[in-house]
Amino acid sequence: MTDTHCPYCSLQCGMTLSRKGPRLEVSVRSQKNRHSPVNEGALCRKGWTAAGLRGSRERLTTPMVRDRATGEWSAATWDEALDLIAAKLAELRDVHGADANAVFGGGGLTNEKAYQLGKFARVALGTSQIDYNGRWCMSSAASAGNQAFGVDRGLPFPLADIEQTDVCVLVGSNLAETMPPAARHLDRLRERGGRVVVIDPRLTPTGERADLFLQPVPGTDLPLALGVLHLLDAAGAVDEDYIAERTTGFQDVRRSVAAWWPEMVERVSGVEAAQLRELADLLAGAEKVMVLTARGAEQHAQGTATVLAWLNVALALGMPGRPFSGYGCLTGQGNGQGGREHGQKADQLPGYRMIDDPAARAHVAGVWGIDPETIPGKGRSAYELLDALGTPDGPKSLLVFGSNIVVSAPNASHVASRLADLDLLVVADMVMSETAALADVVLPVTQWAEETGTMTNLEGRVILRNQAITPPDGVRNDLDVIAGLATRLEAPAGVRRDVLVDYPSVDRQERPVVSGATRWQTDPEEIFTELRAASKGGKADYSGITYDRIREEDGVFWPCPEGSDGTPRLFTDTFFHADGRARFVDVAHRGPAEQTTADFPLHLTTGRVLAQYQSGAQTRRIKELPDDGIFVELHPLLADRVGAHDGDPVVVRTARGELKAPARIVTTIRPDTVFVPFHWVGANRLTNDALDPSSRMPEFKVCAAAVTA
Ligand code: SF4
Repeated sequence: MTDTHCPYCSLQCGMTLSRKGPRLEVSVRSQKNRHSPVNEGALCRKGWTAAGLRGSRERLTTPMVRDRATGEWSAATWDEALDLIAAKLAELRDVHGADANAVFGGGGLTNEKAYQLGKFARVALGTSQIDYNGRWCMSSAASAGNQAFGVDRGLPFPLADIEQTDVCVLVGSNLAETMPPAARHLDRLRERGGRVVVIDPRLTPTGERADLFLQPVPGTDLPLALGVLHLLDAAGAVDEDYIAERTTGFQDVRRSVAAWWPEMVERVSGVEAAQLRELADLLAGAEKVMVLTARGAEQHAQGTATVLAWLNVALALGMPGRPFSGYGCLTGQGNGQGGREHGQKADQLPGYRMIDDPAARAHVAGVWGIDPETIPGKGRSAYELLDALGTPDGPKSLLVFGSNIVVSAPNASHVASRLADLDLLVVADMVMSETAALADVVLPVTQWAEETGTMTNLEGRVILRNQAITPPDGVRNDLDVIAGLATRLEAPAGVRRDVLVDYPSVDRQERPVVSGATRWQTDPEEIFTELRAASKGGKADYSGITYDRIREEDGVFWPCPEGSDGTPRLFTDTFFHADGRARFVDVAHRGPAEQTTADFPLHLTTGRVLAQYQSGAQTRRIKELPDDGIFVELHPLLADRVGAHDGDPVVVRTARGELKAPARIVTTIRPDTVFVPFHWVGANRLTNDALDPSSRMPEFKVCAAAVTA
């Protein structure tokens, strides 16, 4: 019996895995899991069935190489596959330069993998071209958090704090379906007499729990926030003392929200002015307010501005840093938080250090035993990277770990055509995903129960997934793959072993550089020890966290410098900007990148369903999970107008492509909006690749569409 955590979402529910003959059984029967702070013994159906891939005939157990001329696959040994990949990477680097090779990671990879992948890209390949699918998850909230607070930790407080607040405003979150065990906090809040507000173009199971439900036009969460702040200021409900003592920049924001009176907001968002007043009254009368955003607010070309607008509301009410109050982002992927802290992002080095910061480069180079000058600069963001593949100036190869790009990328048909232009596409996956099927080489890797590693959940709590079973013969850990390639590329792995006791400081750059004599680590705990050193002194400081501490303490919150207890709650005394103050940031509403037209008169939005997860590469292969396939949700008024019938096919068209799928006619969606879940091929052939100027988040959540029966 092994205590571990769920393979899927950012809640990272504690679960117990036991062997029952050839089967692996999921339970929460251990004392530890019954009292796990994040799920208290509850799991959603994805968690209960997570072991379903164990023994599946769809598991890949041997490296596969595809013949480009015939398209035929043949099995290869690991040595053959890794030799082939390394030789091609070296050739491309010699001919086109280091940036000819690119790496694409995932928000589901453990911290150790994310760290090692970032190091592999910078040290072994020397490429700046690395990013990951987490860019498409919460990057707008990350960008906004960095601007406003000087740090990005999804929730700056434990999730259970929700129960103790007075009003919880959920903007673009369907918590009850995406992470059901977390919804108990909303129920307990309401039992205490608190109020829940949900803002969403669809009335979801989360909206059904709300005391106040607002149903805006997709892409208009931002003007709603401007309107709320307008009303709060007009009512004298802003906290002038807090604003003066703990923030800067309010006067500019105050001036700009003055133009957003409720009737103006109603015209833009479709939310009645009376409802906006009701929300403002609720907030003005509450002592403790929590504003939580998720993908609905964030996955827009103005996602960062939208989050900043809601952050401005929280700051104006004086909430961030107060008990059971503030702003938080509900991260989506299992390691969406840790995955963005340790170096697989185009602009980052471990510890949430920025790659263009000379001090950060010197510190990390010291840990890696290399010259800081050799660390490449900032690379392309996820979509920009994919968009550049195979172009004259773009990468010629792509190594993909933990991502199913052709299902999850926006404008997915275009992305698939870019992949086809590569000289080499390598995918490490446990099954033949849609992206793996396009690869030149597919490497079979372990799934979560077959490996150990740390994850950082949506609260910033670092937890430990323990290996419960041995992997099938022929399958290797991603860490072995990285080490195998790095060794073949003769990459230096000269980690300073003294780094934890005396890590290199920025003013000791004269320290001798260690040449590549030592081997690339494959043991997760060893890599975590190195990660601790690399993160030391950074914003996401893990140096005081050890595997033993995580086991003993049910997870440890970062920042956790050596000797620290960890930090469950941020901002109680200070924010992370040099002056200790939070920033109001003045933002303007531009509207969706693509406006509706006579040809495309509807809004298309995308999202998740309870039984599936992300691109569905795992959950669609689990027999116990219902898989009804892709569908198009539309309102009866719209269905009447286009002549659609429930269950019959309809065609959704956008400027990028079309999708034919059964209609699901519901009264819970706006009549001007259609919804398509993104777990199946098709939804993202429709979505818009317009990017947020700051976070580079694509506009997954709204584009102009047409529907015909
Ligand atoms: Fe918990 Fe999320 Fe796993 Fe469901 S998918 S069991 S909510 S971690």
